[in-house]
Amino acid sequence: MPRYHIWTVGCQMNEADSARLAAGLHRLGWLEAARPEEADLVVLNTCSVRQKAEDRAVSKLGLLRRLKAERNGGLKIAVMGCMVGLRSQHLQERFPFVDVFARPQAFADVLAAVLPEEDLGGEFWPSALPEPSGSTAFVPVVHGCNKFCTFCIVPYRRGRERSRPVAEIAHEVAALAGRGVREVTLLGQTVEAYGHDLPERPSLADLFRAIHDTPGLERIRFLTSYPKDMTDDIIRSVGELPKICEYFNIPVQSGDDAVLARMRRGYTLSEYRSVVEKIRRWVPGAAISTDVIVGFCGETEEQFRRTYDLLAELRFDKVHVAAYSTRPGTIAQRTMADDVPQAVKMERLHAIEELQEGIAAQINAGLVGSVQEVLIEGKKGARLNGRTRTNKIVHFSAQGQTGDTARVLIEKSSAWSLQGRLMAPAGPVATGS
Ligand code: SF4
Repeated sequence: MPRYHIWTVGCQMNEADSARLAAGLHRLGWLEAARPEEADLVVLNTCSVRQKAEDRAVSKLGLLRRLKAERNGGLKIAVMGCMVGLRSQHLQERFPFVDVFARPQAFADVLAAVLPEEDLGGEFWPSALPEPSGSTAFVPVVHGCNKFCTFCIVPYRRGRERSRPVAEIAHEVAALAGRGVREVTLLGQTVEAYGHDLPERPSLADLFRAIHDTPGLERIRFLTSYPKDMTDDIIRSVGELPKICEYFNIPVQSGDDAVLARMRRGYTLSEYRSVVEKIRRWVPGAAISTDVIVGFCGETEEQFRRTYDLLAELRFDKVHVAAYSTRPGTIAQRTMADDVPQAVKMERLHAIEELQEGIAAQINAGLVGSVQEVLIEGKKGARLNGRTRTNKIVHFSAQGQTGDTARVLIEKSSAWSLQGRLMAPAGPVATGS
């Protein structure tokens, strides 16, 4: 049997893409290899959002070049994902030993390189359902992005928004639930854009309703939110539908309107605040996380201070902060100077990390004494771990297994996680809606 090895970096969308490619290879009789040395095909599923991620792929490619030489060419190498744009000639010149460069989700291109004679037909990929590896699974619902924020490479690499039909997603969710998945996360670069390009124009809220009663499914999450696309209907549906987890990841990126305009984010701070305010009003107990870029082109100390003050005011449960790094091909790289010194970027990044650590520690301390519903995702020694509906990691000691739901009394907290004691025996959830 031929063997494949897939190495994945980057976001949840890449993880989902790798799982689907693996599902296709399995259907064709391939087996997974734990190490590249044991594989006939190695796929690097790459990320381009930051330079660091590209550097990791380049260093992996150095290892694979040596491996391929040792195997006298008896190894196929594919590079897939966001490193590969519309034109890959510069990559072919730089890495001539790579057999195929495939854009995100161009699974057929990868297979064509290893199985050129195989005619897979149009239904092959939609029906190649990923094998779940635990109690949770990612389900891409809309691919690509139409927004073209000036710092971002994603629209150039993943193309325009393309939504999957409701029926196809419902079928996949039902199949995953049938194989033991209790929680699905619906994925999109801007997940609220779901359905705009489909003939019936279903919304994300319509999709929630369509999959909500899937037997065996307990929780539904969604990522990543774009503030401007977050409609009242979507927010209200999170408050009303019991299986939709009350957790929102809504990147704000900056606390200054002029910086937001330079980033071409398409909203003002007052619009962003209004979305947060509606979530807190209509979805009691909701947790909200955000993403922030510090040191974007031209960001002054005062503008950074506004971001800092906004985070102090809105008190998010989690903040993913990154120092701006210019990405070739983006609007910012072509038209703006990356003029904030690296040392200043790092100072700003650390200031936000420190601020957020204090806020998250306070928010989590407020949960001590509460009882949380925890979906068990793993085990380390005698300790189980899982997440609350609001996406907080909980560690506790008990008998139980992946996919069970436990009621846990929270006894300790830190900025990053909670610890607790089992209140009600862990067990499988009742199937049905
Ligand atoms: S919304 Fe902006 S940051 Fe997000 S993927 Fe699209 S272009 Fe990139």
